[in-house]
Amino acid sequence: MEDLGFNSFCKTKESRMPVYDNNQGISRFPEFLKSECKSNLLLGSEKLRWLTPKAFLELDNMLLSINSNRVGLVKLVVGNTSAGYYKELENCDTYIDLRYIPELSCIRRDPVGIEIGAAVTISKAICALREGAIVYKKIAAHMEKIGTKFVQNTGSIGGNLVMAQREHFPSDIATILLGAGAFVNIRSGTAYETVSLEEFLERPHLDSKSVLSSVKIPLWELDRKLLFETYRAAPRAHGNALAYVNAAFLAELSSCGSSGGAVLNKCLLAFGAYGKKHAIRAREVEKLLTGRVLTARVLYEAINLVKATVVPEEGTGSEAYRSSVAVGFLFEFLSPLADATIGISRCTLSSKDAEENYEEGGHVKCPRMLSSSRQVFQLHIDYRPVGEPIVTSGAALQASGEAVYADDIPSPENCLHGSFVYSTKPLARVRGIQVNPKSQSNWISGLINYKDIPKGGKNVGSMTIFGSEPLFADDFTQCAGDRLAFLVAGTQKEADVASRLAIVNYDLENLEAPILTVEDAVARSSFFQVPPFLYPKEVGDFSKGMAEADHQIFSAEVKIDSQYYFYMESQTALAVPDEDNCMVVYSSSQCPEYVHATIAQCIGVPEHNVRVITRRVGGGFGGKAIKSMPVATACALAAHVLRQPVRIYVNRKTDMIMAGGRHPMKITYSVGFKSTGKITALKLDILVDAGIYTDISPVIPSNFMAVLRKYDWGALSFDIKVCKTNTVSRSAMRGPGEVQGSYVAEAIIENIASTLSVNADCVRKINLHTHDSLMLFHPDSSGEVPEYTLSLIWEKLAQSSEYSQRREMVSEFNKCNVWKKRGLSCVPIVHELIVRPAPGRVSILRDGSIVVEVGGIELGQGLWTKVKQMTAFALGLIKCDALEVDLLEKVRIIQADTLSLIQGGFTAGSTTSESSCEAVRLCCEILVERLRPLKEKLKTEMGSVQWEMLIQQAHMQVVNLSTSSYSGPDFSSNRYLTYGAAVSEVEVNLLTGGTTILRSDILYDCGRSLNPAVDLGQIEGAYVQGIGYFMLEEYTRNSDGLVTSDGTWTYKIPTVDTIPKQFNVEILSSGNHKNRVLSSKACGEPPLLLASSVHCATRAAVRAAREQLQSWGYHDEYGPTFNLEVPAVMPTVKEQCGLDNVETYMKWKMSTHRVEQ
Ligand SMILES: Cc1cc2nc3c(=O)[nH]c(=O)nc-3n(C[C@H](O)[C@H](O)[C@H](O)COP(=O)(O)OP(=O)(O)OC[C@H]3O[C@@H](n4cnc5c(N)ncnc54)[C@H](O)[C@@H]3O)c2cc1C
Repeated sequence: MEDLGFNSFCKTKESRMPVYDNNQGISRFPEFLKSECKSNLLLGSEKLRWLTPKAFLELDNMLLSINSNRVGLVKLVVGNTSAGYYKELENCDTYIDLRYIPELSCIRRDPVGIEIGAAVTISKAICALREGAIVYKKIAAHMEKIGTKFVQNTGSIGGNLVMAQREHFPSDIATILLGAGAFVNIRSGTAYETVSLEEFLERPHLDSKSVLSSVKIPLWELDRKLLFETYRAAPRAHGNALAYVNAAFLAELSSCGSSGGAVLNKCLLAFGAYGKKHAIRAREVEKLLTGRVLTARVLYEAINLVKATVVPEEGTGSEAYRSSVAVGFLFEFLSPLADATIGISRCTLSSKDAEENYEEGGHVKCPRMLSSSRQVFQLHIDYRPVGEPIVTSGAALQASGEAVYADDIPSPENCLHGSFVYSTKPLARVRGIQVNPKSQSNWISGLINYKDIPKGGKNVGSMTIFGSEPLFADDFTQCAGDRLAFLVAGTQKEADVASRLAIVNYDLENLEAPILTVEDAVARSSFFQVPPFLYPKEVGDFSKGMAEADHQIFSAEVKIDSQYYFYMESQTALAVPDEDNCMVVYSSSQCPEYVHATIAQCIGVPEHNVRVITRRVGGGFGGKAIKSMPVATACALAAHVLRQPVRIYVNRKTDMIMAGGRHPMKITYSVGFKSTGKITALKLDILVDAGIYTDISPVIPSNFMAVLRKYDWGALSFDIKVCKTNTVSRSAMRGPGEVQGSYVAEAIIENIASTLSVNADCVRKINLHTHDSLMLFHPDSSGEVPEYTLSLIWEKLAQSSEYSQRREMVSEFNKCNVWKKRGLSCVPIVHELIVRPAPGRVSILRDGSIVVEVGGIELGQGLWTKVKQMTAFALGLIKCDALEVDLLEKVRIIQADTLSLIQGGFTAGSTTSESSCEAVRLCCEILVERLRPLKEKLKTEMGSVQWEMLIQQAHMQVVNLSTSSYSGPDFSSNRYLTYGAAVSEVEVNLLTGGTTILRSDILYDCGRSLNPAVDLGQIEGAYVQGIGYFMLEEYTRNSDGLVTSDGTWTYKIPTVDTIPKQFNVEILSSGNHKNRVLSSKACGEPPLLLASSVHCATRAAVRAAREQLQSWGYHDEYGPTFNLEVPAVMPTVKEQCGLDNVETYMKWKMSTHRVEQ
């Protein structure tokens, strides 16, 4: 960093990265970086060996020389991508790279098939296969869905199959090759053996001295009576997610002369990844089908047998779902054949069918990802350059990787690295922590715990206005994920390995049972206090409202779970001890001021001895607020104790375990409403799971209720308890409490609509506020009548999204399609925002360039960009010649430094950009006032005044060109409302529970946007993060409360294939807002809430599926009122559509004699 005088790219004055030019086609690797690449492989330690045999003989000798006690330490590798999956099990010191043995990298074709060397990468195999017969093309198309392009380019076919055989990896390749009847060649010493893939998978694990040399896929006759398909149900269809279940089916068919039906002469049915050791052939089902005419009855028998065959092992998760999807796959494959009205030829492989999947040149057609988008905004030029869609400040540096984040700062000499040892038990006595003998003792420099807090210091890891949280557990751990100690070692890897291997000695004797649920907390009265000024106020008389209702629902329940922040940059800090008991800490934090105070308290020094610097943060979403404090404090404490610099980059697993995330909740409500859908009264009992420490949890009730008030509920009554449980404390996450409040409002509306059997959007519309009811529900923030834009938004969006026409189209689609249903939903938001005080300083240097400091942190939300624009606008009011555009180029925003600019506060709640802008505007106003007399004088003397000349003269005439300010809106105008709505259309696959967001249209009120390009990015980004919450991200825990979704393998955030296929965003420019900063309104968090429209649209589609299910009979329990959990992942959706919907359909068809039996 500049302050230390070094920087990862400090050798150059400016970026040497070539500027991206999209007219030049593909960008090449920069020449200057090539010379910096080391020619030798970097293994990270001299103790590791990397061997590269060039022939089998050389390999044999290497394998022979491995003595038996070193077997686990030697690993054959091709791409070594398995290290990503089995990262915690790896402990090798010798790697034998198979890529240079020619026989392993060959692809051979002969008249009976194609043989692919085991070291051939998945990409190369895809290229070879798509040039072959149609079965090969289909295999290639399936392989395109494996991992990412990087994994395909690096990982090998053989590596994948060995992982499946030896490590029970849920492979796609094993399943699809099993379905295609493949064989493998194994080389043990000099002997070769060919066995079927099925036998290979069933054998004992391939021993460490045998090598898989190739796989052979037979060439299936290319006549028109062959059917081959592969299937895959995964959380993200094309985006790096392992399958819940996959399958490949091959059938040879003939036609039954008398009936015209299809006879299966031969079939191969392979299922995999469903929670058994390896992929299997469903032999019994194959036997049942072979030689039989495929009637509905036979198909029914077959699917029942599949259900009994594809049974995951206990503990797999979603077991019933996986079996049910396996049934769906076979049904999809065979049902067209069982329907006598469809001839075989239409179902078997013709080259045309397969060709349709390919583009010119044989490339598999890309699945439709984001197909179109529209971004609409109105340009305002009154405050130029404020209001212009200027490119985000530092975007090029970020895109080229040159932007310096805390972890990019090169380590100072003697720098040590830390890693947290956390508890895996919820409530236990900690008898001791032992370093595992497997981690080399010379790695470890210290194991810091609460006993190391210096005299005068305090065991404090974070602070808020509600209290503090200890840095380390004392003799008792309070939750799984609690920080027990900080292990310090020479490198980050050594610290991570040693902390993972550390052995914690727990003692549970005579301890009460932990409180792990909100129900437990209620039973044991374990609550946090909510200060009265934060407890929300009720509206009207609930009993009276209920008495006016035509219908009443009592004690309905909604449960909502947590969400992890998933910032790209994990928590990180570097602490450097300085002279005179001082400490400089670089922290990736949303609130360096509080990090600063916490460190000072912990190590027992005055605050002026500590300096915290934050340049930028690689994503925060609230997780870098309170939760960044213990990370930096632990480094500072270790640095203080060891008198050496200490840093940490918290690994993803530890971060996910300790992060806490969004607050889970349980809500029980009673609601009364008229037959028209007009709501008359609502009462809620809300239990918030806050975890073990207060954090910011006391604000959750007011946030929740503020957003729930988006509708006119008639009378509103509630009881909210913030429960203290033995789980990691929850913290603020983008829209904290607000996302839950908004969703619960929608869940209630959906329930009312289902009860009345009407469209939920009509119930929404009828309950939108008038300005009068808005004033009742939001007395402190409702604003003037013209500021209430929600009705306008609702109407405008209905038009731009073609809502009415699409409703009809959706209903038509649902009539025509049995296994796919669509839903459409429009959801509004009314979001209250609070503007907090913020400091700023503006200084004009001798050459006219300007340096700006603000309390707000750049988190990727574009704060710096807006501040730059504001500085240029506000200083431009001096009106020198040709100024505004030039001035923008002259402004640099510098990092937050807690000793340079105090009272930075929290970068949170969406409004920090505007309050930082306001602080800067105030500074500029002062500077302009100071400069004006001089400027007028020069103007009179010279006719025209250039900025540079004015500043030079000002310096000479001793004008003070630096000033600071602290913007603090008064309490009467620091709250305001903003509005928006989104219409989403979702398609649900009733066989897999998979959802596709076909289209989302958003209309959001930004006031007068300070920068529409930045705001559009914020709106789209927040919305997509909301899609993750509502549809994908399962933040699961075990029975001790320990997080089990602790990595990207299990926690699935949205990717390009999960976002809406059509994504239209419009910023409503709602005119003048006199109390807002240049009439602007915030947009960092509220649009996240709009993503519940996707959930509601999914629910509408599921409702259509259930209506259909009911029409088939047998399913009274699938009524119109149901609860679709959040997130609506595939198993959840499928469960609500009927796990046995296929069987029900078949029974119905057979009973109504619509098909031949
Ligand atoms: C992010 C990610 C996503 C993925 N997603 C999917 C997916 O969706 N579907 C899927 O099927 N797979 C998936 N994979 C698995 C991927 O296909 C495999 O990791 C890859 O194919 C392994 O090849 P490799 O060359 O890297 O094997 P390596 O890691 O080099 O080796 C894997 C194992 O096989 C052994 N081995 C390798 N070659 C031989 C040989 N010839 N003889 C004997 N032993 C050998 C090694 O000793 C090691 O134990 C994913 C992997 C990653 C990292």
